[in-house]
Amino acid sequence: MSKVEETILEINLANLTHNYTYLRSKLSPEVKFMAVVKASGYGSDAVVIAKHLEKLGVEYLAVVYASEGVTLRQAGVQTPILVLHPQPVNFSLLIEYRLEPSIYSFRILSEFVAIAERKQQKEYPVHIKFNTGLNRLGFLKNDVDHILEKIKKTNSLRIVSLFSHLAASEDHQEKEFTLGQIRLFKKIGEEMIGILGYRPIMHQSNTSGILNYPEAHFDMVRAGIGLYGYGNEAKYDNELKPVASLKSIISQIHRLEPGETLGYNRAFTASGCIKTATIPVGHADGIGRLYGNKKGFVVIQGKKAFIIGNVCMDMLMVDITDIACNEGDEVVVFDENISATDVAESAGTISYELLTAISPRVKRIVVDKN
Ligand SMILES: *Cc1c(COP(=O)(O)O)cnc(C)c1O
Repeated sequence: MSKVEETILEINLANLTHNYTYLRSKLSPEVKFMAVVKASGYGSDAVVIAKHLEKLGVEYLAVVYASEGVTLRQAGVQTPILVLHPQPVNFSLLIEYRLEPSIYSFRILSEFVAIAERKQQKEYPVHIKFNTGLNRLGFLKNDVDHILEKIKKTNSLRIVSLFSHLAASEDHQEKEFTLGQIRLFKKIGEEMIGILGYRPIMHQSNTSGILNYPEAHFDMVRAGIGLYGYGNEAKYDNELKPVASLKSIISQIHRLEPGETLGYNRAFTASGCIKTATIPVGHADGIGRLYGNKKGFVVIQGKKAFIIGNVCMDMLMVDITDIACNEGDEVVVFDENISATDVAESAGTISYELLTAISPRVKRIVVDKN
């Protein structure tokens, strides 16, 4: 690896290839793969990730907002894109960029039909979302007749897929609940297909669904976090390779006398003679204040250096009293060895939140090697 000279997020495409291949190896060959590249590809770079996965043969992409899909199309991504959470104000843009909406309520269904008809669309691809227990977005099983009644009145739409989302696929204690979600989704599918007369793609599994519930693979899976190298449990983390590494450098080293304080609001007081390092990464870069005051750490010369005082907007300070290091030395926030899960959990959050928080001002560097 080249020398780190400022705060960077390294994106390793060889690791992305590895994770994609690993997740695919868990599926029957006929099962399609939808790669979730929302939130800038989990905080990395959605265009880079999507283009790489497109080359690897991914069948579908998913984002959350219409604007995320537009960015991919403008960058030349051709793969079908599901927009998981659109609003009516986005529908013209969706159609203009051939982005496929999740239809999750009767409000969304009637508004989308109205716009599709106004724009003289025929069989525009849409995806019907069912709520099987997460109680976040989606129709209920009881809505099936009413949905089909509305859809049969128009030729502007074609149902490409039926989908649902698991609430606790990573939690083995919730196995009964998850199996109940899978059974309910299966029933909904049978009922819809019975009335429709054709078979849309069915999908319900996120990463942990892929890994823990083969019975939930259906015709397609939707993988997010696993592609980026995290599997929600140690057994799978060992098989996957983190795609993003957040690295920085020591800007300056200070020596504090007992009783001296550090940072805003003097949140830290030195109890003895200590050495601190100032690192150019702060809450505006995605390392939130929750990591401050010894909740979080970085790694310098292979050793943990705890964050002391409050995290500032543009920098943070760590205790390096017991670490032999110099100004200009490399600092790792997370990488292939320093797991984002461990760092996140030390502050009471999850890898998803840490990864997706890394802000656009952090320079992205793409590498494609092991
Ligand atoms: C984010 C998301 C996923 C991906 O979940 P992972 O746990 O990251 O694999 C899949 N489906 C939906 C609906 C999502 O919102």
